[in-house]
Amino acid sequence: MKRKIVRIGFCMFLTALLLFCYGRYQTLHKPVFAFGQENKCIYLTFDDGPSDSTTPYILDVLREEGVHATFFIIGRQAELRPAIIERIYQSGHALGIHSYSHEYAEIYASPAALLEDIKKCSAVLESILGLETDLYRFPGGSYSLRQELVDCVKKAGYRYVDWNASCRDAEIPGASPDELFRAARDTPADRSRIVLLLHDGAHRQNTVAALKKIIRYYKEQGYEFRTL
Ligand SMILES: [Zn+2]
Repeated sequence: MKRKIVRIGFCMFLTALLLFCYGRYQTLHKPVFAFGQENKCIYLTFDDGPSDSTTPYILDVLREEGVHATFFIIGRQAELRPAIIERIYQSGHALGIHSYSHEYAEIYASPAALLEDIKKCSAVLESILGLETDLYRFPGGSYSLRQELVDCVKKAGYRYVDWNASCRDAEIPGASPDELFRAARDTPADRSRIVLLLHDGAHRQNTVAALKKIIRYYKEQGYEFRTL
């Protein structure tokens, strides 16, 4: 009888020890993200491409870092570079329309002119990829546009996306990669869902040079990279 009690006591002690150790293990291996931060995400968006001098290097960095982005393309540049458009698509990135001509005076002359320009760019993408997209970004953003222009795009069934953060590569002439990185890090208005504006196109080498650091910063902060 005594022996049985000792055995039960020993088993209880062993169970308590295991539970204690498991508790310690749990405390030491808490999930990396605290509650409420699981959904932090960033959308890298590149306007004004494709270009021979920049797009391939952007794609290389994205591949090296294992993240995807969204490219808002200019139709008249895309029709001369179908292989780059193919590569963007085959690499798993998203593509959206960013106008055919990017000439503000022309495309914003009237709702009809704007829709014509959008359809022209859409036709270029379709001829290369055999796919249509409803994703659109207004050149310069929708922020200060006449309401009739924004309305006609919505009514035509396009989904337009602006941005809430920018590396400011189009605003600061000759900005260094470090300045671009700091802007990309410091400008987000909404820290939980960041749509970051960057630019493709000729002379954007500094954007490419800043890209790895921008991606690594947001990875360290626990952001998930998504496409639109
Ligand atoms: Zn643009």
